[in-house]
Amino acid sequence: MPFAYDDQNIFAKILRGEIPNDTVLETQHTLAFRDIHPQAPDHVLVIPKGPYATYDHFALAASDEEIVDFTRTLGEVARAVGAQPSEAGGGFRLISNAGEDAVQEVPHMHVHLVAGRPLGRILQPA
Ligand code: 5GP
Repeated sequence: MPFAYDDQNIFAKILRGEIPNDTVLETQHTLAFRDIHPQAPDHVLVIPKGPYATYDHFALAASDEEIVDFTRTLGEVARAVGAQPSEAGGGFRLISNAGEDAVQEVPHMHVHLVAGRPLGRILQPA
């Protein structure tokens, strides 16, 4: 059974302005803010403003307008933090944890954008 959306989750509270955040970018449908426990010099969480619990929920239920806005905002965030890949190096990684196996802590869909140091390979052997 898929997640029901819980509007008491911490990101829902951030969206309602009940908890402060360090905003990087905000658009009509998307908010990007710095992770409170950064794993790299730049660690930004990009979230849709709509009530979506997981990436698949968002991808299948959100409007085209929300999805385009979200995707473009991810690109803008990479530029805003100076992480766009170039011949001189740089780059970033996007991660979206969904559900128990991925150890999703906050049940509001989010993509982590991490950058600012060499990130190594994405997965360790189980
Ligand atoms: P997940 O494991 O769900 O993919 O990641 C949730 C992320 O949210 C974690 O990296 C955690 O540090 C971050 N986080 C949890 N609570 C807060 C908060 O109140 N503010 C911010 N900015 N980040 C948070």
